[in-house]
Amino acid sequence: RAKAEFDRHICYYEREMDEHARQRREMAKDIWTALEQDAFYLVYQVQKSVATNEITGYEVLLRWDRPGHGLVSPADFVPVAEECGAIGAIGAWVLKMACLDAASWPEPHKVAVNISGLQLSQVDLIETVRAALLRSGLSPKRLELEVTETSIIADKNRALHILRQVKAMGVSIAIDDFGTGYSSLDTLRSFPFDKIKIDRSFMNEVEVNEQSKAIVRAILALGRSLHVPVLAEGVETTAQLEVLRAEGCTEAQGFLLGRPGAIDWNDALEPTLRTSAG
Ligand code: C2E
Ligand code: MG
Ligand code: MG
Ligand code: MG
Repeated sequence: RAKAEFDRHICYYEREMDEHARQRREMAKDIWTALEQDAFYLVYQVQKSVATNEITGYEVLLRWDRPGHGLVSPADFVPVAEECGAIGAIGAWVLKMACLDAASWPEPHKVAVNISGLQLSQVDLIETVRAALLRSGLSPKRLELEVTETSIIADKNRALHILRQVKAMGVSIAIDDFGTGYSSLDTLRSFPFDKIKIDRSFMNEVEVNEQSKAIVRAILALGRSLHVPVLAEGVETTAQLEVLRAEGCTEAQGFLLGRPGAIDWNDALEPTLRTSAG
């Protein structure tokens, strides 16, 4: 009986696996079609100085309106794009377009581009970055690559080699989602990075929860001793922003400061203190 029961479970499991694999294959097919038809697009989310409220840059976020499915988060389709080999082409397109866009922005504003783990293991990323800069004329100082701790440790030596080359061009590196990866502190010691982005999960209740606040404070102290600016992600309330200001956080990003979308140049060109007014 136990055997029959076991077989039944295995069978169910295999059906689930088949269904899952089928869905991923479907999505992979749609990803290639979207690439061909130029159906991906980019939105930008503002990053601001906590002390002065000035705009420091924009993070570019990839968007895909998948026919029959609506908007799919890059968190869901980037892994499939990695699996089916499309991430190289998608990543190159994102870098090219983001640099072209940023080249027309006011001088100091930076553009931050997310780089997936697999991209970071492909040596041609170096050439892709170089080509995007050359073609757009954007100063390398104004390009920042966001990488996660998890993507770095997947193939540590290769990632280190690639990041050093990219840095040698003058491009800067931010550690994204800091605090949620595997070996945060070891990563900090061995990687040539220029900014720490605190994962947005630490913003949860930071204004009321002493534990969250203690962690944020510790990351800020780390940034100060390493002489690296710290940006807080996922800032949604004025209360959170006030904590960050009191604790000396360098930059902030989140729905309170601006939702991802098209850049509103009316807003962007007059750096008011609107955010602290709510
Ligand atoms: P991420 O780099 O950590 O990006 C921040 C995510 O948090 C974005 O989700 C953004 O829309 C969301 N967010 C921003 N402010 C807030 C806030 O105040 N509250 C909340 N709840 N969320 C906020 P999105 O656009 O869905 O992107 C998810 C992830 O997909 C990104 O996480 C990044 O890892 C990846 N991704 C996005 N664009 C690209 C890309 O062009 N290439 C690659 N390889 N990955 C990308
Ligand atoms: Mg990011
Ligand atoms: Mg992040
Ligand atoms: Mg994230």
